[in-house]
Amino acid sequence: MYPLKPPAVYAHESVAGNPQYRARLERVVAALEEPVEPVIYADDDLPRIIAQENLFENCGIMGEMDEVPDPKLVFNTFRFDGRRKERVEWLTGQAQISPELATTLLGYRPWTWANYNLEGDPARHDKVCRPCWRMHFQRGCAHKCSYCGLGGVLISAVNSDEWCDNLGRLIQAHPWQETYLLEDDADVPGLEPELGCLGEIIEWFGTLQDRYLIIHTKSWNSAWISDLRHSGNTIIVWSISGDTQSREIEPVCGTTGERIEAARVAQDAGYQVRYKFKPIVPVCNWREEATAAIDLVFENTSPDLISLCMYMWQDVATMKRRLPVELLDPWALEAAEEAGITPSDTRTAPFPDDVRAEVYLHYLREIRRHAPDLPVSLSTESFTMWKRLEAELGCTATNYVCGCGPNSTPGRACLTQHPFKIAAAGPQGDFNSM
Ligand code: SF4
Repeated sequence: MYPLKPPAVYAHESVAGNPQYRARLERVVAALEEPVEPVIYADDDLPRIIAQENLFENCGIMGEMDEVPDPKLVFNTFRFDGRRKERVEWLTGQAQISPELATTLLGYRPWTWANYNLEGDPARHDKVCRPCWRMHFQRGCAHKCSYCGLGGVLISAVNSDEWCDNLGRLIQAHPWQETYLLEDDADVPGLEPELGCLGEIIEWFGTLQDRYLIIHTKSWNSAWISDLRHSGNTIIVWSISGDTQSREIEPVCGTTGERIEAARVAQDAGYQVRYKFKPIVPVCNWREEATAAIDLVFENTSPDLISLCMYMWQDVATMKRRLPVELLDPWALEAAEEAGITPSDTRTAPFPDDVRAEVYLHYLREIRRHAPDLPVSLSTESFTMWKRLEAELGCTATNYVCGCGPNSTPGRACLTQHPFKIAAAGPQGDFNSM
């Protein structure tokens, strides 16, 4: 587990009242750097904890904060009692808190439907992601990446047994979805193996036929997974970056070398590993550092695919507040300033197409030196960029495989069915309100 000094630890009464879940809490607390007495709370205490104990006081984009303490820890259980709407309305009425955060705090967010590229998706014509169910087990992270807002509080469920039981029903109802991403709101290995939930989830997926868990992480913490019975049904995708970015901008994640070593350990234990270079921050010597990272990847591991995604989703002024500007390549920074693109123009702001294409083509050339036929895709990119690079990539915006797409099964080189059409065919409503 990570060496953590959380300013406070909270545990819902449903955790404290169950011997198995309480043992999980106690193992995590015993492994903290300094002793902390967990505060046991009931739902009715939440408005006070949020307002008077300032639960979310340390939340914000971490690169914009003077100091980033370790996150407060909150342990709760998922509820599958059909009362989500009523309970979330109650909490949002009692406390200044977003519905999404209230849903998580109350244990009603075990998964969400990502409506990408379907009716009602406002970014439908600007990003290529596929519609799917996305899994959640935690919200928050200890990694302190400058560009991220998921620090301050780490909320973790402890009832992985009930989560798996209910996920089984969701999987059965959506046969088109073959892989299940865990997750984009947290980096789940950080509290393991003490928490004891991720191993249970990996082994549960190991009992399934042709359905896969995808763990998305930047962590160095993989040694504990070696002896699990995963049956080849867990894929681990490491987001990696060049050396400067990994040390200066993502300071608590493993370094480039540590993340690749964590992937090697997983690969030696039989897990399929893959990588995303995401987000790619164009630091001054990004070309050399990309080449070195790619060399290290192939010297140590055999990924089944690699995805690329440039730093995006904000205007240049916001980026300059969040990242150490002195580290950025003046060529890329000046191009972004000159272009002045904002997210209302395109989600790929602030770097213009020419800069992003040059970066992607460098990465692609370096990957191709090692693996001429490896699937390489652009993650979360625009249809315009895909069109521009599809000849070099050898696939298109609607048939590529990527790190976490719902049909990116191990070793698959290309999708055989249109990802926006097959997903739309599945039922979804009931599972969002369980
Ligand atoms: S690893 Fe991911 S979730 Fe964690 S701080 Fe970094 S960007 Fe945020």
